[in-house]
Amino acid sequence: MEWTDFLVGLFSIFAILLFFFYWFIPLEKMDFGVDKNPEFSVGNISNEMQFYKNMRFENPDISYKIDSGCSLKKKQDMERAFDSLGELTILDFYPVTSGEEIMVSCDDEVRPSGNNLFIAGEGGPTKILSGENFYIIYEGKILLLRESNCEHPNVGIHELLHVLGFDHSENKNNILYPVSSCSQTIGNEIIEKIDEIYSFPSLPDMKLGNVSSSAQGRYLDLNFSIKNIGISSSSGGKVVIYGDERIIKEFEFDEIKAGQGMNMELRNIWLPERTTEKIKIKIETLDNELSLENNELTLQKLNP
Ligand SMILES: [Zn+2]
Repeated sequence: MEWTDFLVGLFSIFAILLFFFYWFIPLEKMDFGVDKNPEFSVGNISNEMQFYKNMRFENPDISYKIDSGCSLKKKQDMERAFDSLGELTILDFYPVTSGEEIMVSCDDEVRPSGNNLFIAGEGGPTKILSGENFYIIYEGKILLLRESNCEHPNVGIHELLHVLGFDHSENKNNILYPVSSCSQTIGNEIIEKIDEIYSFPSLPDMKLGNVSSSAQGRYLDLNFSIKNIGISSSSGGKVVIYGDERIIKEFEFDEIKAGQGMNMELRNIWLPERTTEKIKIKIETLDNELSLENNELTLQKLNP
């Protein structure tokens, strides 16, 4: 072997080592902290009047079905209840033969509740999903027991308001007072609350949260959650992660229903820049959303 070959070999090893150091250094650990965490909150609109805050159906047009076992009188009373609440509010109720959101059934059994009182009916939401801003009602049930003797369909309206999430009132003149009487009326505050809760369009709202991140050398670990805190399903989209302004990772996600979400744990994402100051996470969808501000988060390098 010539001594020149030996020198070339030595130089090659040296060059490879140099390249290795160039490529992987810095090796130290870096932490990233959330720069700003934008929130979107609508507050508690229903203000203690409902079982849970801001309960609503996905859409203001709500379908119902009245069981064929109901007497004509009960059926007509219930239809008038749907009509009158539809006239007073932005809601609209329409009959369907299947796939109904509100099921009305009837029973002639007399159920005494003590003190010479009889239970006139029962009603409430039966399927709910909780989001951060709204509780979404997917199904409700009404059971009509006693035929009403009132001019107005008070029992039907009372039970329908329960299905819409409203709790009993302590006001004896209010239709939601636990003991029914024909002179009771729907309080204006109930009508206003319904219109206010349904004033938000039925849209999804994707939100980023629970973010933590650190890097070891040029490998980044990233934890975060994506959640739909809106009213309707998100049709899916993608999450794009930027190191400074360069895309370092992106992946797609499928439909996410209101109130649902998922946690992401990403390991060893290669950072293309030798120094990275900012990590940005962004949710991109084709949907309109209640708020787009909470779709983006920026993390800043914490170490000096
Ligand atoms: Zn009641």
